[in-house]
Amino acid sequence: MKKLLLLALVLACGCKKTEPAPKEGSGSGSGPSPAPGPIESKPHDGIARIDFNRWAVRLNLPVYWIADANNNKSLDPGEVAPLLFYPTAPAYVADGKFTAELEKAYAQIAAASKQPESADRREQLVGKDLDYGRATLVLSDFRKLSADDKQFVGHMMKVASLIDELYDEQTGAAALRAKLPVDPASHSLFRRNRGPKCVAPSTEKEPDCTAIPGNPKPINALYPAELQKDDKFCAVLEKHPKAKDLMAPFVAVRGTPEASDQLVAVPYTEAYKDKMLALSKELAAAADAVKDPGEVALVAYLRAASKSWSDNNWEPADEAWSKMTVDNSKWYVRAAPDETYWEPCNSKAGTHLTFARINQGSRAWQSKLVPVQQEMEKEIAARAGKPYTERKVTFHLPDFIDIIVNAGDDRDALGATIGQSLPNWGPVANEGRGRTVAMFNLYTDPDSLAARRGQAESLLDGGAMKMYAGDAQPGLLATILHEATHNLGPAHEYKVDNKDSRAAFGGPVSQVMEELKAQAGALFLIEFLRAKKIISDELAIQSYVDTIVWAFGHISQGMYEADGKRKTYPQVAAIQNGYLIEKGALVWDPKATAANGKDTGAFKLDLSKMVTACDDLMKDVAGIKARGDKAGAEALIKKFVDGTVVPHDTIKQRYLRYPKANFVYSVAL
Ligand SMILES: [Zn+2]
Repeated sequence: MKKLLLLALVLACGCKKTEPAPKEGSGSGSGPSPAPGPIESKPHDGIARIDFNRWAVRLNLPVYWIADANNNKSLDPGEVAPLLFYPTAPAYVADGKFTAELEKAYAQIAAASKQPESADRREQLVGKDLDYGRATLVLSDFRKLSADDKQFVGHMMKVASLIDELYDEQTGAAALRAKLPVDPASHSLFRRNRGPKCVAPSTEKEPDCTAIPGNPKPINALYPAELQKDDKFCAVLEKHPKAKDLMAPFVAVRGTPEASDQLVAVPYTEAYKDKMLALSKELAAAADAVKDPGEVALVAYLRAASKSWSDNNWEPADEAWSKMTVDNSKWYVRAAPDETYWEPCNSKAGTHLTFARINQGSRAWQSKLVPVQQEMEKEIAARAGKPYTERKVTFHLPDFIDIIVNAGDDRDALGATIGQSLPNWGPVANEGRGRTVAMFNLYTDPDSLAARRGQAESLLDGGAMKMYAGDAQPGLLATILHEATHNLGPAHEYKVDNKDSRAAFGGPVSQVMEELKAQAGALFLIEFLRAKKIISDELAIQSYVDTIVWAFGHISQGMYEADGKRKTYPQVAAIQNGYLIEKGALVWDPKATAANGKDTGAFKLDLSKMVTACDDLMKDVAGIKARGDKAGAEALIKKFVDGTVVPHDTIKQRYLRYPKANFVYSVAL
């Protein structure tokens, strides 16, 4: 329902990333250095880091080579993270040294990487599906937390595994686990993909690509198995006289489909009583563990959530949750059934846990921008022109959170949600008192940054790449300005000729135009802030380049869904970059060599035209919104989304060379 595709989707944002433990070996000179100091164990240099991590996934081993911190091309004890949510949890390092478990895993990985490929087609496809996900670490180093906080985190880890168990039962995956063949890759695929199905673009439609030979379909536990034999059972239920009860979000459907009047709605807390009570207990224990007097709001939420998991009434938990903010808690916890994407009928709330630290970075930006918020509105109102007039504005920046673990419905096989608004139902949702969050530590790891740089280098020329920062700051700024601009100029409540935006443009185009306005603001306000010395000249330039690279990422995803539905962000991205191309700020040169030295045909940047181009973009987009100018909106779409100004195919072809992130989690306590 409200899983946001925030601006940051392909962006590296986030100002804080928990870094690996301090590394041994001080010689950080350039180039490969000899193995450091006297070491007892033999070097572990038989396989490159990326391949080590890839083969660990194929072997279903919960081990991760974080980074070659001392650049000796050998795995060292300080560079290993044990991963969560695997069937085993061996200790790989003890007292700063490798254990026998590590030696065993290393030998398995090294051996597997040298073996010829399996002759079995299913196994080949399983390997291919796994390889399309690049294991990407989300590491939280909590070794310095207080003993109480460590206890709290420990309880939350328990909550995470209980949520996983419940979710796997509900999806029907748990019931299939016993059918897995012996090979570890099949087990790994089943674990990562949360069931037997393949998920990569090139393998998801292959019937032979499955963790379980024969490709059995999981039977969702929320509906009677018998009912699911009919492909259209959702439609049948929607037409049922008791549809309203049966399709409610927090109930399972039980009974025999032959006697359809006997179908009944059973509350989650009855249908999954044992697991939900266990969760209720664990959340209460987590509340008990919090001793910090500054965490009153967190404790209130944990207690309310504990009750909701026992009585299926989610509103009190939502109320308590809505009162948590960046100002009253260090933690972000959401343990509830929420989104409905996961199940075949899209009506039942999926069980999930989002457990994160609140990132205080939003406050610094809030305090920089609030003093100039009215002036920003004034500038944008001037660009929008009549009949729009400047109004009084306030900002609502999202909470920035650093993910610790995602469990249940939150943990995807590939990629991750990077923005979300909740809850979906009840008074907190209906009265606009929910919370919006942006997940800020995702895609900020060195591998993701390197992949993004590689993608950028495949399309930009060397000159443009010199202005590409490659760190999180420019993307962070862009996200903030994008979110801020949603509050500026003609927004949701604005009407022209008594028509709101939906009425003026139609739903999908209205959505594109609102996001495009936010995106135009992300570019236009760069110069506004630079001129006021709120940001440096360097950050301003880096932000232009970063925002262009962000747009390439979205453009590569294609403009329309299979059913013809508009993809909002890709279309916004195409209009943004197309506009910059038309204004000469971004120049496609078919003969230029890309910065990677391999591709012919690349974009150059003309910074002298950037400020004017962004000003014009703001003027056009805000003006179209102000006048409810449907023809103007459609002309932009025709030219840049459906037209030939933007080299869509080239962008797609160069970007999709890179695998997607498969986020894996590690918590050091
Ligand atoms: Zn937006």
